[in-house]
Amino acid sequence: MIGEDTFLTNAEEQYLADAITTLETEVFVDGLGYDHFRALDENEVSREVWQEYVSRMGEAGFNCISVPEEYGGPGGTILQTVLAEQAIGYCGNIVHACQTSLTQHVGRTMYEHGNRHIKETYLEPMASGDLVVSQAYTEPRSGTDIAHLETSAERDGDEWVVNGEKRFIDFAPYADFYFTPVRTGGEDGDRDGVSIIVIDRETGGIELVEDQSDWHGFRGTGASWMQFDDVRVPEENLVGAEGEAWAYITDELNLEHLTVARYCLGASQQALEIAANYTANREVNERPVSRYQAVNHKIAEMTTRLDGAYLLNTRAARIMDDRGVSAGRMESAMAKWLGNDLAHDIADTCIQIMGGIGTTTSYPIEQIQRDVRAGRFMGGATEVMKSVVQSDAYKELLDEEFDGDLVGNEREGLPWLNVDQQPARTRDE
Ligand SMILES: Cc1cc2nc3c(=O)[nH]c(=O)nc-3n(C[C@H](O)[C@H](O)[C@H](O)COP(=O)(O)OP(=O)(O)OC[C@H]3O[C@@H](n4cnc5c(N)ncnc54)[C@H](O)[C@@H]3O)c2cc1C
Repeated sequence: MIGEDTFLTNAEEQYLADAITTLETEVFVDGLGYDHFRALDENEVSREVWQEYVSRMGEAGFNCISVPEEYGGPGGTILQTVLAEQAIGYCGNIVHACQTSLTQHVGRTMYEHGNRHIKETYLEPMASGDLVVSQAYTEPRSGTDIAHLETSAERDGDEWVVNGEKRFIDFAPYADFYFTPVRTGGEDGDRDGVSIIVIDRETGGIELVEDQSDWHGFRGTGASWMQFDDVRVPEENLVGAEGEAWAYITDELNLEHLTVARYCLGASQQALEIAANYTANREVNERPVSRYQAVNHKIAEMTTRLDGAYLLNTRAARIMDDRGVSAGRMESAMAKWLGNDLAHDIADTCIQIMGGIGTTTSYPIEQIQRDVRAGRFMGGATEVMKSVVQSDAYKELLDEEFDGDLVGNEREGLPWLNVDQQPARTRDE
């Protein structure tokens, strides 16, 4: 199978095969099978469904894979983490893979920086599948540029008081808690002064002001625009040190780049297998479509590039296993950019070689194509991945002569970074 033998040891190949078997026999069955995937696409979903899903995943050992056993995880590797995400994308749906991916990188951050309260109250129950998690990063005026976040938290006695807005937040209506970056100090745009706070869903002052889930694909998460209005959170819900979360966020995104790319590739692999099967059996002018070189070369190209994307992703995961999740920033950005653009390209090409039937719901490919489109944004847009790569690449290529200003990041003086000149849309506009 494609995606096997991409520099995996026998044990790792077995892990991938076992993961697929477990998912097919224990998770994506009894109410969470194919009909449920279709229901997700119609945004027909409930809190109970997501609780059931995370519970089955906890039991099967897929949540928080790289978190040690003493904190509730199975104590696996980053490589096992990305293989599991590939398997979920392959035999489930990437919306499921996203929820599980949150447990991987949010869980990892809680394990590395969280206090005892965070670990006992959130990390361990999330790993066992008792809690649904949501990651509330994006804001109306700050998406890519997280340092410009405007949601604030101020101390009041032994509590934090949180005010602000977040948008595009998956699982907002279904989650038990929100993993939320806030500004606790510094100036707009500073990396210092950013903190992460865990906010319980039931806390007063949280309002889901707009349902945003009716988008292009990747439906069923209840994506929402959220408002925090004097939300009071116990001080122990701060993750790590006050004002120092920038480094935690960067690390977390490094890992998320790999999981998002890997589960989208898993989904595109499913599309590729369906298309290969269809074109081998569909006859046009009395010969299988697969006999036409215009078609079979596409299968060859997709297969080759998919294997390459898996290899790149595996390499970055190995770097993180060897040197920690801070390492391999450039390699994980490469893997995300290439992996997510490719996943979308594969799904789209599969539709093309299947003809009109590919655009219908007779096959899951059109849903996969719409779903994986989101991967080119989630966890960081493709363009941002290229900015990361160019900066690190120049640093390596120019060695000690490297001057950041020489290559820049297209950040200075552009109107789209100046919120005064070009305000982002607000809800009422
Ligand atoms: C399906 C889906 C699910 C999502 N789920 C969540 C979620 O659960 N939680 C959450 O917090 N967020 C979520 N998001 C938001 C996502 O993280 C953001 O959309 C993404 O970070 C980009 O931010 P933005 O949309 O504000 O785009 P902007 O930051 O406004 O950027 C617009 C475009 O400008 C370009 N650009 C920006 N900066 C640079 C740069 N430095 N160099 C080059 N080009 C640049 C990019 O092309 C980018 O796509 C989700 C998004 C989608 C589409």
